Amino acid sequence: MRKITIIGAGQAGLQLGIGLLGHGYDVTVVSNRTGQQIRDGRVMSSQCMFGTALGHERNLGLNLWEAECPPVEGISFCVPDGAGGKAVDWSSRLDASARSVDQRVKMPAWLEEFERRGGKVELHDAGVDDLELYARESDLVIVAAGKGEIARLFERDAERSTFDAPQRALALTYVRGMKPRDEHSAVSFNLLPGIGEYFTFPALTTTGACDIMVFEGVPGGPLDCWQDVSSPEQHLERSLEIVRRYLPWEAERCTDLELTDANGVLAGRFPPTVRKPVGRLPSGATVLGVADVVLLNDPITGQGSNNASKCAASYLSSILEHGDRPFDTAFMQETFERYWDYAQYVATWTNALLGAPPEHVLKLLSAASDSPRIARRFANGFDDPRDFFHWFMNPTAAESYLAAVQA
Ligand SMILES: Cc1cc2nc3c(=O)[nH]c(=O)nc-3n(C[C@H](O)[C@H](O)[C@H](O)COP(=O)(O)OP(=O)(O)OC[C@H]3O[C@@H](n4cnc5c(N)ncnc54)[C@H](O)[C@@H]3O)c2cc1C
Repeated sequence: MRKITIIGAGQAGLQLGIGLLGHGYDVTVVSNRTGQQIRDGRVMSSQCMFGTALGHERNLGLNLWEAECPPVEGISFCVPDGAGGKAVDWSSRLDASARSVDQRVKMPAWLEEFERRGGKVELHDAGVDDLELYARESDLVIVAAGKGEIARLFERDAERSTFDAPQRALALTYVRGMKPRDEHSAVSFNLLPGIGEYFTFPALTTTGACDIMVFEGVPGGPLDCWQDVSSPEQHLERSLEIVRRYLPWEAERCTDLELTDANGVLAGRFPPTVRKPVGRLPSGATVLGVADVVLLNDPITGQGSNNASKCAASYLSSILEHGDRPFDTAFMQETFERYWDYAQYVATWTNALLGAPPEHVLKLLSAASDSPRIARRFANGFDDPRDFFHWFMNPTAAESYLAAVQA
C-alpha cells in the first residue's frame, strides 16, 4: 500500500487525504491543532465556495452541512455614486448556490471523518526535521500548510507572482442579526473605488447560521483601519462605522448586529504569492506543495478555498493516474502544472481586480445593470473564472461582447 503523508489539516490536506483513503492509500495527516483547538480558535476565512468546488466535496461524501448551511443564491454588485446613492446596482442568481461553512466547523468534523475512514492523525507543528523523517518513511510528502511558516520552504516564483507586497488590509466580522436582502440571498459585493471593497453573505458558524462581513482596504486608505482595534467589540464597532459611512444600504441591514462569538473577528494582510511546487529538504529529499502553499490569492474574489478544493481534486487524479511509479520531482512539477493550467486564470483575474478597474471593465459592470445576461455571466464566473478571459479581461473581447449583447 502506498504511503502518503500530508502536512496540514485544512481544506486541501483533509479533502486530498480523504480522497486518497477512498482509493486504498495509507495516509497520515499532520496537524498543528486538534479538532477542538480549531473549533475553539479564531475564524480563519470567509470560505465561500461555489458549485464546482462543492461538487468535489460532495463526491467524497464531505457535504455534511447542506441542510443546515444557508445557501448563497446569487451575487449582487454595487458601486456608490458618492452622494449617498448607487452608481451601479445589479444582482444575479448563481446557477448553483454557493455555501460557506466556517472552517472551525468543517475541519474538526473532517478530521474525525478522516480517522473514521482509516486515516492516521499526528498532532504537532511539523518542521523541516520532521519532513525529513516523513520523506524517508513515505512514498510522497505533501505540504498543505496554507500560510504556515513551513510554506517558506517553497521558493517564491518571481515570474508567476504579480505582487511582492500585500494589496489589501483584510478584516472579517462574523455576525448575527443582519437583515436578509429583499430578493434572493447573495454575496453582496460593494466596490469603493480607490478605497477597497466590502462584501457580505450568509454562512454557517459554530453557533448556527450567521453572516460574514468581509473588508478589503487599499493599504494606507480609510479601510486600512484595524491596527488600533484591541477587542472584538471594537472590531464590530469599526465594521459598523465603515458601512454607515460608505454604504448606507448595507448599514440598513446592520441595525441590530452582534458578534457570533469573541473569536469571530480577524484582521491581517499578506502578499498574493505563487511558489514553486517542489520543496527541497537539506538531505536532497523533495516534498510537494498544494493549494495556498503554492498559490496564495488575495480573498477579493473569494477563490482560495475553491482553489484548494480544485487543487486537491486535481492532485488526487494525478496521484491515482501515476499508479506505482515513483513520485519524483518530474511527477511533482507535472502535477502542479496540471493544476496551474486552471489556476493561472484565477490568479490573473484576481490580481486584475486588485488594481484600478480599466475603462472596459467599468463599462461592462455598469452595462450589467440593464442586462441580466451580463450580470448572470459575471456572477457565474466566480465558479469558473476562466470564462472571464473570453469577454471581461481584454478590451477587444469586451467591446465585441457588449456589441453582441446590445444588438
Ligand atoms: C480574510 C480571508 C477571507 C477568505 N475568504 C475566502 C472565501 O470567501 N472563499 C474562498 O474560497 N476562500 C477564501 N479565503 C481563502 C481560504 O480560506 C484559503 O485559501 C484556504 O483555506 C486554503 O486552504 P489550504 O488547505 O491551502 O490551507 P488552510 O486552510 O490554511 O489549512 C492549512 C492547515 O495547516 C495547518 N498547519 C500550518 N502549518 C503547519 C505545520 N507546520 N504542521 C502542521 N500543520 C500545519 C494550519 O493550522 C491549517 O490547519 C479567505 C482567506 C482569508 C484570509
